[in-house]
Amino acid sequence: MQNISSTYIKEIFTSIQGEGPYIGQKHIFVRFCKCNLACKFCDTDFDIKNAKKYSIDELYEILSSINADIISFTGGEPLLDCDFLEAFLKKYKNKLNKKIYLETNGICFLELEKIIDYIDIISMDIKLKSATGQENNFSKNEEFIKTASNKELFIKIVFDENILDKEIIKTSTLAKKYNLKLILQPKMPIDKNLDIEKVFEKFYLNYHNIFLIPQTHKFLNLA
Ligand code: SF4
Repeated sequence: MQNISSTYIKEIFTSIQGEGPYIGQKHIFVRFCKCNLACKFCDTDFDIKNAKKYSIDELYEILSSINADIISFTGGEPLLDCDFLEAFLKKYKNKLNKKIYLETNGICFLELEKIIDYIDIISMDIKLKSATGQENNFSKNEEFIKTASNKELFIKIVFDENILDKEIIKTSTLAKKYNLKLILQPKMPIDKNLDIEKVFEKFYLNYHNIFLIPQTHKFLNLA
């Protein structure tokens, strides 16, 4: 049986959020080790040999000692550690007095259900097959959005020169249906064949609540 009072965490660090609408704010990042996808551009190290095991009490001690207002659970896919997160947040969310920001690939809606009450902000990636090499998961993405219906959630799409018109229509229609902010993030490094403005305009034809926001931490040399 899984030990939910401890788990492997790759790293805990503070930095400036470099993606999405919270760009520029100080966050504490807690990076979990597991993932349910294998995107072709992924640079995350999932080897638990390079991670450390934390109990929920040890994690609280560290997070409560850091001067920052938002904790960003990231990965990997943090929802694969939902039992650990549920135990942690149930015991410590109120004591921490910090906002909980979840960075997720927007597939594990059953796992989200377990901890949704403790989450304040959800940054939900929709992983496109054209960029990741992984199958699209649009129906699970929609279930995920429904599970988070009373929370602040925005969608983020990492795209490259291979993005397909049908992916643009599918994702912008989904965002429109639930009136969600849609962040368009070009994959770095940007390929010379990618016409960013053209992609933006294709999204804009169907939906106007869209924002082109590149990753800033890469060119600012932040963690
Ligand atoms: S979902 Fe994120 S962490 Fe998982 S393989 Fe894709 S890029 Fe890597």
